Amino acid sequence: MIEKKQFYIDGAWVDPIAGTDHQVIDPSTEDPCAVISLAGEADCDAAVAAAKAAFPGWMATPVAERMALVEKLREIYKSRAEDMAKAISMEMGAPIDLARAQQVGAGSSHMDAILKAASEFDWIEPLGDHAPNDRIIHEAVGVVTMITPWNWPMNQISLKVIAGLLAGCTMILKPSEESPLSALLFAEMIDEAGFPKGVFNLVNGDGAGAGTALTGHPDVDMVSFTGSSRAGKLISKNAADTLKRVSLELGGKGANLIFADADEKAVKRGVLHCMNNTGQSCNAPTRMLVQRDIYDQAVETAAETAGKVTVGPASDEGRHMGPVVNETQFNKIQDLIQKGIDEGARLVTGGTGRPDGLNRGFFVKPTIFADVNNDMTIAREEIFGPVLSIIPFETEEDGIRIANDTPYGLTNYVQTQDPARANRCARALRSGMVEMNGQSRGLGSPFGGMKQSGNGREGGRWGLEDFLEVKAVSGWT
Ligand code: NAD
Repeated sequence: MIEKKQFYIDGAWVDPIAGTDHQVIDPSTEDPCAVISLAGEADCDAAVAAAKAAFPGWMATPVAERMALVEKLREIYKSRAEDMAKAISMEMGAPIDLARAQQVGAGSSHMDAILKAASEFDWIEPLGDHAPNDRIIHEAVGVVTMITPWNWPMNQISLKVIAGLLAGCTMILKPSEESPLSALLFAEMIDEAGFPKGVFNLVNGDGAGAGTALTGHPDVDMVSFTGSSRAGKLISKNAADTLKRVSLELGGKGANLIFADADEKAVKRGVLHCMNNTGQSCNAPTRMLVQRDIYDQAVETAAETAGKVTVGPASDEGRHMGPVVNETQFNKIQDLIQKGIDEGARLVTGGTGRPDGLNRGFFVKPTIFADVNNDMTIAREEIFGPVLSIIPFETEEDGIRIANDTPYGLTNYVQTQDPARANRCARALRSGMVEMNGQSRGLGSPFGGMKQSGNGREGGRWGLEDFLEVKAVSGWT
């Protein structure tokens, strides 16, 4: 079993001052695979003090020097991609091929995109005729607490840490206690790249302990959080006493509007997208809204597609679906599937219990419900598992109304071959992102939500701006 109890604070690996042991469980086997330490308040104080001391120097470091260090980090990250893929696969259950291509791949693509944005960014911006003697200086917010979830660990860490570093912020990263191993590897890479001490600090911990200490700490200027809407609300309240900037990337319940004229692969694509990463993606299209004329055929295609998804341990090579992250999540999904049945949705494939032949590990059957009503629990709650709800609709107006009838507003999807309709839907859908006809978001494009999906934007220029103050200077010469 791996033992990694130290934190990375002020440029060194240090023993916890007030830590408690925590076992990381491999979700494919249900066996412990590592022991880490959960930080106490004294550890968090030490990390914040290091970030605070490092801030003036790092903020004043020229952007080109900050970029050069991030470029070095990117090279180290690429050279250790396989170690990273294995860590992610073990800690949160992503099949190894997916961990390599998508999980680790996303981390490095974000580094590329944010570096590009930083090189093109107008750090000192003229205002033209509006105010010819003024300039906007885009300047680092300060000390940032970064809190990340377990579902796409390196995707989230890269989006926050790279943008924060390039903006000139110093930081304390607290990754999810479910996926600390990849974050610890990342801290090793930061150390190897040679960032000045205190610029990046890492403590492990849970929400109630380190999470609360770091989001309420008076010397922290900003919290950048990705996780559940539930935790986002608690963090906003905790950060309110010191009026910190709070950037939130929260949950979703995306609708995938499939019109009768959609391309023939739309349903299959929607099912596979929903099941990707075992359904554990904030932007998963979990509500498939299908126009009545093609409804029966779509339900049949969806069931057939889900029926062909194979499930197995994360370490197996080849395309398949792994387990969900932990027992709590497994039980929650089982309860929600049962609720779907009890509330009258039609189960067309999957259901409760583990897939055949898998008696151990947090494996869930790829599950499709048809005839779902948007008021049912499975259509309202973020399930975070491989469960798709199919809902019929009649007209465009009807489809948009159902899609928008949710507290979330992260990503919605539209499938139609009518460009005018596609554009009308893109405008009418209340979400931070709309993806049409299988076109996925470009990496330089902003990622973030509306409503209870949060208020932050990550990726590209917008990701940088999240960590920057706008300072207006008049009389610039
Ligand atoms: P979670 O909210 O339980 O935990 C996320 C992180 O917050 C963890 O590091 C956890 O320790 C910490 N945390 C929990 N409670 C806290 C508190 N009170 N104060 C401070 N920190 C706290 O979420 P999760 O189960 O790890 O991740 C899944 C959730 O993340 C889903 O809701 C998913 O939609 C969301 N998510 C959103 C995005 C996005 O960009 N919008 C991306 C990925 C995941």
